[in-house]
Amino acid sequence: MSVRVRFAPSPTGPLHMGGVRTALYNYLFARQHKGSFLLRIEDTDRKRYVEGAEQYIIDSLKWCGITWDEGPDTGGEKGPYRQSERLEIYRDYANMLIEKGYAYFAFDTPEELEEMRTRLKTEKNPNPQYDCVTRMKMKNSLSLSPEEVSSRIESGEDYVIRIRIPEAEEVVVEDIIRGRVVVNSNIIDDKVLFKSDGMPTYHLANVVDDHLMGITHVIRGEEWLPSAPLHVLLYRYLGLTGSMPRFAHLPLLLKPDGQGKLSKRDGDRLGFPVFPLEWKDPVSGELISGYRESGYFPEAFVNILAFLGWNPGTQQEIFSLKELVQTFSLERVGKSGARFDPEKARWFNHRYLMEKPLGEIRDMFRVILDTKGYRPPDDMLEKICALVRDRVNFVHELWEQSYFFFKAPETFDEKFAKKKWKEDTPGLMLKLTRKLQALNSFDTGNIEMAISELMQETGAGAGKIMPALRLSLVGAAHGPDVKEIMNILGRDETVERIKRATDIMS
Ligand code: GLU
Repeated sequence: MSVRVRFAPSPTGPLHMGGVRTALYNYLFARQHKGSFLLRIEDTDRKRYVEGAEQYIIDSLKWCGITWDEGPDTGGEKGPYRQSERLEIYRDYANMLIEKGYAYFAFDTPEELEEMRTRLKTEKNPNPQYDCVTRMKMKNSLSLSPEEVSSRIESGEDYVIRIRIPEAEEVVVEDIIRGRVVVNSNIIDDKVLFKSDGMPTYHLANVVDDHLMGITHVIRGEEWLPSAPLHVLLYRYLGLTGSMPRFAHLPLLLKPDGQGKLSKRDGDRLGFPVFPLEWKDPVSGELISGYRESGYFPEAFVNILAFLGWNPGTQQEIFSLKELVQTFSLERVGKSGARFDPEKARWFNHRYLMEKPLGEIRDMFRVILDTKGYRPPDDMLEKICALVRDRVNFVHELWEQSYFFFKAPETFDEKFAKKKWKEDTPGLMLKLTRKLQALNSFDTGNIEMAISELMQETGAGAGKIMPALRLSLVGAAHGPDVKEIMNILGRDETVERIKRATDIMS
């Protein structure tokens, strides 16, 4: 049987990086097994529906290079792939459960439910729930007479459909990552399967769709593990145990200090994004940062996510999406939470910045320079990128490391000047400019020769000449190798800058 997996997000807001990881693992698993990857939008909770969230999910996955074979935009044989467009399907399944006695109608109002929780609260049972212990004391088709049930339904009273969870039964979930998980049914409540607004809840719609869409493996976040026993029961009650998918619950993403779940709020608070793309809240207008806008390459982001819960068991850390498809396996996904390390995330981006063809980096940097009004020639810009990329993690940081190539210094670091610009410096600089002008070609080898000659002739050490030169060219104590800077600036600009600095500082 060929593998069919799905990513089933609810459009309740922007997709968290944990969600993208779930999508990625599903994608890798599908591609590796030459199976199909589906995107299914679980939008039956209309109260939590957020405008723009579905588009955000699609844009995020596309940015990562994650593609799907069936989905709301691409279509497919098992569609529609938006649950709000499948509503009539779920009703039949709910009715089937009622007929078989595995589900029932419940008429309790929110006030009555609240009242039950307070009334039955004891020290031993601090959170009483709607279950085998309490259900007969509530208003439902198990506790009321058939006549009353019919008359309530006919009079148009609001009702929900609840699953009837069996008493004291061991429910077994076989999980690829966690092994055998056994849960006593007494801790599961009679979850609502169908709401009074005529919408199925997540549990029913999810199980029905996984079945109808032929899903073979359910790969999802650990937060859904508590729901898995309920899903196992639903498969059983619907007579679908034989085609039940296999489960794999992925470990939680933890905060950088390892203390607790990485939450939506952590990112901007701790100074790193938790969302793939920037998100503007449609109601509050609040802007939340994204990996894309923060300067991450999608390949780096994917690589970061791949390692949050999985490892190849070797030293290799840099993996393209293609290599991940070959190497990934659910067996190498860990059980324990995966700590997110923002430092390591930046390191990944740095590695990709170092590996990318220079021409690509140049073009990306050019976009930034354009906004600042600088248009250096291609070859010069490429040399600059080659020289300073080792010092940065992001393309936008190239500016900080190279701004002096595009504009001559207007000010000079005073502290540095005081220490390094001495009375005899102007004389030395003048001699140097003459030597530079006499060079055949202005390559770093010749520049070095000119400087050594100057040192030999004047007896001035490198500690005297090089800082003064740097100050003249950069205006400050930082920057890459001075000879490289001179070579890129070219002879005229170099000489001019030295002369200007000498004029200003003398
Ligand atoms: N709609 C659920 C979510 O938002 C899907 C969980 C699952 O994959 O079963 O994550």
